Amino acid sequence: MKTFKLGNAKNPKNDIPIQDSSVSSEHLELWWDDKANLIIKDIGSKNGTKKNGIFIRQTDVKPNDKIEIGFNIFTGAELINKAIPFKYMGKVQFFDEFQAMKPFFEQYQKDSLKIKGTRSIKIQLFRSLIMLILLGAFYVFGTQLGIPPFFRFAISLLGGTLGFFLANKIFDEKTITDKLAILREEYSDKLKCPKCTYSLVSKDFLFWKNQRKCPKCQANWVK
Ligand SMILES: [Zn+2]
Repeated sequence: MKTFKLGNAKNPKNDIPIQDSSVSSEHLELWWDDKANLIIKDIGSKNGTKKNGIFIRQTDVKPNDKIEIGFNIFTGAELINKAIPFKYMGKVQFFDEFQAMKPFFEQYQKDSLKIKGTRSIKIQLFRSLIMLILLGAFYVFGTQLGIPPFFRFAISLLGGTLGFFLANKIFDEKTITDKLAILREEYSDKLKCPKCTYSLVSKDFLFWKNQRKCPKCQANWVK
């Protein structure tokens, strides 16, 4: 198990430096166990380490834990985040892990197309309907008032155009943007660099495959 260290920033040997005098220069040793749990071990610090209010010597860290290192309070999630770059120390090839994301990329694309698709059909129907009603209404109205055909035609056209903009306003892009944002959030956990968790939701599988490497951590995705 490869270990790494968290401690006072004054000690250059610390992999995760903390700038605070309550943190000892040798404070915590950390590692990822074979079930991908983050383990921390106090290595004789002055102010100690607490998990959920209780002093510990060695313990695992879950996202919802409250970890006190010296007088610094971290959530488990914050500590896990700091430790992620050390999860795959030395490992550079992530072919299988990257390939395993393919079905999730495809499902994400399908789901977002579904949201976009229903929108455009609904909007087009609604727009056409409004335009037709207004065109007809203004034309008939114009006949009753005895307005000459040319003006009747112009007024109907104006009404139709107004209806078109009205429909755009009612069917604004917000709901669709919200839905896509929620979907993005759902998939952000699955579509990320297996090594450094760099988010990959913005582009499709083929795009990243052609990149071959993670732009952030340089992990190899493709042989
Ligand atoms: Zn990466």
